[in-house]
Amino acid sequence: MADADVIVIGSGFGGAVTSCRLAQAGASVIVLERGREWGPDTFPRKPTDPWVFDPANPAARNGWFDMRIFPHMTVATGAGVGGGSLVYANISVEAKRDSFDAGWPPEITYDALAPHYAEVGRMMEIAPVPQPQWPARTKLLKEAAEAAGWGPRFRTLGTAVRYDPAWSYDLPNPHDPARSKTVTNIHGVTQGTCVHLGQCDIGCPVKARNTLDLNYLAVAAKAGAKIRPLHLVRGIKAVAGGYEVAVDQITGGALKPLTLTAPRVIVAAGSIGSTELLLRSKAGLPNLSLRLGRGWSSNGDFLTPAIHPLRDVLPTRGPTITAAIDLLDGAYQGQSIFIEDGGLPDPAADQLRAAAGNPHQGELMQRVTASLMPILSAIDVIRHVMPWFAQSRDAADGVITVKNGLAALDWDITASQKTIDAVVSAHQKLAQLTGGLPLTPLTWTLGHDLITPHPLGGCNMGTSAATGVVDFKGEVFGYPNLFVADGAVVPKALGLNPSRTIAALAEHIAAGIVARL
Ligand SMILES: Cc1cc2nc3c(=O)[nH]c(=O)nc-3n(C[C@H](O)[C@H](O)[C@H](O)COP(=O)(O)OP(=O)(O)OC[C@H]3O[C@@H](n4cnc5c(N)ncnc54)[C@H](O)[C@@H]3O)c2cc1C
Ligand code: SF4
Repeated sequence: MADADVIVIGSGFGGAVTSCRLAQAGASVIVLERGREWGPDTFPRKPTDPWVFDPANPAARNGWFDMRIFPHMTVATGAGVGGGSLVYANISVEAKRDSFDAGWPPEITYDALAPHYAEVGRMMEIAPVPQPQWPARTKLLKEAAEAAGWGPRFRTLGTAVRYDPAWSYDLPNPHDPARSKTVTNIHGVTQGTCVHLGQCDIGCPVKARNTLDLNYLAVAAKAGAKIRPLHLVRGIKAVAGGYEVAVDQITGGALKPLTLTAPRVIVAAGSIGSTELLLRSKAGLPNLSLRLGRGWSSNGDFLTPAIHPLRDVLPTRGPTITAAIDLLDGAYQGQSIFIEDGGLPDPAADQLRAAAGNPHQGELMQRVTASLMPILSAIDVIRHVMPWFAQSRDAADGVITVKNGLAALDWDITASQKTIDAVVSAHQKLAQLTGGLPLTPLTWTLGHDLITPHPLGGCNMGTSAATGVVDFKGEVFGYPNLFVADGAVVPKALGLNPSRTIAALAEHIAAGIVARL
């Protein structure tokens, strides 16, 4: 007897959307999520709080961020009910039409995804920062675009944030949480309005962010889906009538093994998580495509801090990202790049200050502090620092394998170097045009090391097992009713923030499964 009609592994964009739609269609759904349920009372803040999810020791460390350190690439993801939406910078933007011109199965086009993009926008109540509330960073980005002759390429971006039109930076104590108004979202869940506290990536204290636990997952739970936090999936095996899922429940500081079965399984553990899980499951799924693990992309992410001595940039205030300069058509050095403003939460700035003075920090903090050393040495001027962000279309030629049960990444910059060089150069140009001193991270100039929060691919969509791991319906080649529905199926860099596209793809995959129920 199966435990459910559908088991969904992971509760980020792919898992939240698919579990919601399947539960609404009347299927019994179990969602297995390795991380905790989080809320304003439990969001990490102090250095001793649970910041880290350690895949090598999940019983002891099952916190907020999973940081995987690979040679020349560090990948940041979230862990918890809501996945990457808990930690992300709220940006919800559609991929460009030409993203789908090549590299995808022919059924996946911009027009095919358009209704799903719109539905994700409705469910997550996406809106840009109202112009009267533009943080100083947004104004700086616009000024830089105009100075570079790219004025028409500047645009504000959709954010999964709830704004109060009456809020203003000119109010007395504008960031006082008491200024946040209590509102009910379209799904009947209580939230607050944004008071520009700048803490988006570490959890909004006033619940102004429209994270997945407050929309898609809330609707899924209302429709009967059972969401199980602290359930880490270890393997999947094909059995008569469906699939067996091996799980470690994290309880009381220990791991308790469980086995669940279902006729349908949706793997939605993210680019690294889903690829790692399928690679680990090869004994139980021996016919997986040889493409598994190939075609991984960092989405060409890059951050350049710049000091703008004559202006207050206030990076710790306002939603973390607000706007972009769109150069995806190759207007700069022939490379596809997308420049954004960036923010930094106060506790992160405090931790970086502390880390800078600590000679015993681990490898990860050494990398992070090395790349941010310019800021740290000028920490008293943090209010003048602009974190210039960007994404770009890299070569998507990384290869994931597993070693000792955990993902290992083989990443070679060679084919992507021109693209990242163009980003670095564009950041320098924009900072200099607005009176800033760009401080390109030494980790890039000396070691060609990158950090990405936007991993894509590993279980790529293709037209056959020779070109991909899943078909255009998200179904794994060779394994009927086993699906992947998350960033792992994206076969190339999008060059901009990917969550809206991942959610739209998950809507498309869910619609296909529902049609077959
Ligand atoms: C700091 C930061 C800022 C970002 N900002 C933006 C932004 O502004 N806009 C944007 O579009 N994107 C942003 N991103 C990227 C975005 O979060 C991801 O692209 C998105 O979350 C990917 O969705 P997904 O469904 O593929 O995976 P995820 O959202 O990562 O969900 C995967 C889920 O699976 C769980 N999981 C993993 N392995 C297992 C397992 N074995 N068993 C059970 N559960 C498991 C994880 O805990 C997680 O909850 C940001 C990311 C970070 C880290
Ligand atoms: S800026 Fe502050 S109040 Fe606004 S969404 Fe982000 S964390 Fe919440």
